[in-house]
Amino acid sequence: MSQLRLNPLTGRWVTVAVERASRPGELISRQVPVEADPERQCPFCPGNEEATPPALETYGPTGGWLVRVVPNLFPAFEGNESLRVQNLGPVFTQASASGVHEVLVFSPDHGDSWADLDDKHAGLAMAAIRDRMEDHARRSTVRYTQAIVNAGRAAGASLEHPHGQLLGIPFVPGEIAEEEAGFRRFGESCLLCTTAEAELQVGHRVVLQDDERVVVVCPYWSGAPYEMLVVPRLHEVHLANTSPPDVVAVGRAIRDALLLLRSHVGEAAYNLVFHTAPHHHEGPFHWHVHIVPRLTSLAGFEQGTGVMINIVAPELAARHLTA
Ligand SMILES: [Zn+2]
Ligand SMILES: [Zn+2]
Ligand SMILES: [Zn+2]
Repeated sequence: MSQLRLNPLTGRWVTVAVERASRPGELISRQVPVEADPERQCPFCPGNEEATPPALETYGPTGGWLVRVVPNLFPAFEGNESLRVQNLGPVFTQASASGVHEVLVFSPDHGDSWADLDDKHAGLAMAAIRDRMEDHARRSTVRYTQAIVNAGRAAGASLEHPHGQLLGIPFVPGEIAEEEAGFRRFGESCLLCTTAEAELQVGHRVVLQDDERVVVVCPYWSGAPYEMLVVPRLHEVHLANTSPPDVVAVGRAIRDALLLLRSHVGEAAYNLVFHTAPHHHEGPFHWHVHIVPRLTSLAGFEQGTGVMINIVAPELAARHLTA
């Protein structure tokens, strides 16, 4: 009934239920909306701009905005110190959590999600992420920037208004170090260029393509139901170095993938995870975006082993999404 599949990016095994035939929509009933406090005005809605620190960047027409980047009011990472490790005892090691923590408000419309953005707007949201990555790369103490979007409560969103976050941190996190090792292990050719070509050749896990610029697949090694991988076709190590047409195409492809998820599976909570090489690393790497719907919750086995159990095979997921 189940199969082990190797995720060559992380080097971890994933358990995929290859024969269980769950219907799309079967998993959706557990979705819980983000709770809004009716007493409190939304800090990200137009007109409430004073509720956030002054914007670092705004995008859109003069006199208004479509995308707005602001410092996080409660930053998890803050300051310009480089990583200075202090040993306070045989097993008590600490360092200051310096870095940058920004919020990307990617629409003025409170009810929007990335799926609702038009072509130009989806491109702007991606361009803003690219610009912030470039800015973070100039700071000597930021080693890696993680851009994310949490949509829905099951995905960890605490505010309903459509937004993402950029966290510039003073070290290279384990997940990225693992992916870098995956690219090195793969050898001469690029792991994700090869993945894109191989998936296009096989065909049945391809969800969509955008003009030769982007391919979206339910990867062979999907660890979660309806998980998708967005791969820009042009090989580029850093998101920040990618040309505007390719950046914009990824923004559109994410929108299209989320629309398919909405129309064939339902209004699911999800995380968008933007993976790019650590600043100043030269690769091998190939930036990409993971779309991870939160339809099932992680339980003790996943917690204890890091081994995911995926109850919807990616072939089936792709078939549902493209039906
Ligand atoms: Zn709002
Ligand atoms: Zn590549
Ligand atoms: Zn990745």
